[in-house]
Amino acid sequence: MENRRYRRKIALLSGAAVLALALLAGAALRAALPAAVTAEGGAEVPLLPEDGEEKLIALTFDDGPRRSTTTALLDGLAERGVHATFFLIGAQVEGSEDVVRRMEAEGHQVGIHTYDHVALTGLNRADFDAQVGRTRNLLEDVLGHRDFLLRPPYGMTDASVKAWAECPIIIWSIDPEDWRDQNTPREVEEVVSQARDGAIVLMHDIFPASVDAALQIVDRLHGQGYLFVTVEELFAARHIQLEAGKSYSNAYP
Ligand code: ZN
Repeated sequence: MENRRYRRKIALLSGAAVLALALLAGAALRAALPAAVTAEGGAEVPLLPEDGEEKLIALTFDDGPRRSTTTALLDGLAERGVHATFFLIGAQVEGSEDVVRRMEAEGHQVGIHTYDHVALTGLNRADFDAQVGRTRNLLEDVLGHRDFLLRPPYGMTDASVKAWAECPIIIWSIDPEDWRDQNTPREVEEVVSQARDGAIVLMHDIFPASVDAALQIVDRLHGQGYLFVTVEELFAARHIQLEAGKSYSNAYP
């Protein structure tokens, strides 16, 4: 019990700065919105969680960047003071380097989602490096470091992927299959109904419907006291050390 309380205290402290920003942004946003928009749910600004009641969740976005939709998403996340994680396609980074730099500058986390969006299982080492190593090098050119998580396409891993990744492998625990029908209300309901402390949500920032859904999800879950954090922040808050070559799909308590 004592230990558990201590852990919660630490997690709360580490989330405090993020939360303060989120609250400020939320308050500013609500003040700027017409009453009709804020009426649902009573327009309550989320309260500071009681000690031990903080709930963390990580939104992750695959297959970008796509300038139009990714920029709209970054704008919406910035308005809400929310951090997310973006697993990027190397081929799409070229020409959108400014969008990628903006992600990190605004507190989001950047990761690797291969160069051409191919399944990594069954590749030989050279082909694996042409997908993961090449993207890591490209991102290093843009961002100046090589500290990137890997999200394998389709969530598929095998012993070789783990042996060659050279970084932690991040899967997910909530998948609304936003690519399927690009139906914003359905995606929002799926994620909100499955949301739980420590979850990692998979979405795609290449669809306008997904961008709309993600921002509605943020607003709905803020109302339930959730804090949105990057994957790195999520595991750090839970004192879980991510290890290269290991695969993680949630940080459930
Ligand atoms: Zn993908």
